[in-house]
Amino acid sequence: MLLIKNGRVLDPTSKTDAVRDVLLDGETISEIAAPGKISRANGAEVFDAAGLVVTPGFIDMHVHLREPGQENSETIETGTKAAARGGFTAVCCMPNTRPVNDNASITRFIVDRARVHGHVRVWPIGAASIGSKGEDIAEIAAMRDAGIVAVSDDGKPIATAKLARQIMDYCRSLDLPVIEHAEDVSLAAGAVMREGIASTRLGLSGMPAAAESVCVARDVQIAELTGARLHIAHLSAKASLEQVRFAKKQGLRVTCEVTPHHFTLIDEDVTYDSRFKMNPPLAAREDREALLAGLADGTVDAIATDHAPHEPAIKDVEFDKAPFGILGFETAVGLALEQLVHTNRIPLMRMVELFTTGPARVLGKERKLAAGEPADLTIFSLDRPWTFRVKESPSKSRNSPFDGRTFKGGPAATIVSGKIVHRA
Ligand SMILES: [Zn+2]
Repeated sequence: MLLIKNGRVLDPTSKTDAVRDVLLDGETISEIAAPGKISRANGAEVFDAAGLVVTPGFIDMHVHLREPGQENSETIETGTKAAARGGFTAVCCMPNTRPVNDNASITRFIVDRARVHGHVRVWPIGAASIGSKGEDIAEIAAMRDAGIVAVSDDGKPIATAKLARQIMDYCRSLDLPVIEHAEDVSLAAGAVMREGIASTRLGLSGMPAAAESVCVARDVQIAELTGARLHIAHLSAKASLEQVRFAKKQGLRVTCEVTPHHFTLIDEDVTYDSRFKMNPPLAAREDREALLAGLADGTVDAIATDHAPHEPAIKDVEFDKAPFGILGFETAVGLALEQLVHTNRIPLMRMVELFTTGPARVLGKERKLAAGEPADLTIFSLDRPWTFRVKESPSKSRNSPFDGRTFKGGPAATIVSGKIVHRA
């Protein structure tokens, strides 16, 4: 048994915001009560959470663990260890591994590896099309039986509107969300950052915001046609957010996520340093303002990191040649506190929602602090100063633009199935 004492318990489901003791018994939450009121806690290990916030376990619904196939960049073991350090208790890994997770045997491989080597829960996402090649629909039902929680061709969009219709039709019958990496590849061809004054100044090839929003518009209309659950990954453009807002108003089952780097940085922050290269690229100032508004008003459903490790040998090259993507796990909570909460843009409860019940709802899961629920908890500080040093990360990669940044508040402990998997 583990007794978490005197923490400020925040639970979006029950709207609790009060100092409470939480007793964990094995893999489940046993009791939540006012401080000192739990009598059966004798002999339990005690975690003093005074001054800390205790919430349901954080979920990162968009990550790349690189296993199988690119174990020099990350493994399920190292990636989930970094996730635990970032306060995450569950992560959804994208299928663009080598081979692609487009069939039940790869899904089972990931689930089995995660059971043995994972520091946090791993919920795989299956490919939408075979090999994510955009030609034929993947073996989605078999992957669902093996444990996938959604489908996506992430790394690229679902290639055609016709295939998107077929996949959404099929996933509607299985009640699985379709996660879209929204990109019109013809508009984005050759681009390495967002098109604008910054790209002109740097002499780098840019893609317009419409490279994303054109695809979002296509998919929203196909979601309307099929009635499917559509989730827009790493939404970065104001025009895309307006599409999602419109879709929600129509009552469509359309959701979206935003990354910490897109609500923190803009295209003017890009230098020739490849740690500022990701897809979608850092957007314009007005896009960031729109994302901040969407995070506040409920248009955005989840914060997801798009943790995308690349080993130094392939990432530390010229900007033009480097692959897209940056690390995300360990700086997510610090950035959310810095950009959203300490600036009073959103209440703390809303931030917790964006990391817990928000992504859970997209995935058709529940997240709450209540007796009988799985003992997955995230404990974090609101004020402890700390500095992110990428060289201390358990990740195999080092591609973070936030190396050396000092934060006010961050993860203090991560508990998965009743076990403390990380303690700061
Ligand atoms: Zn993507």
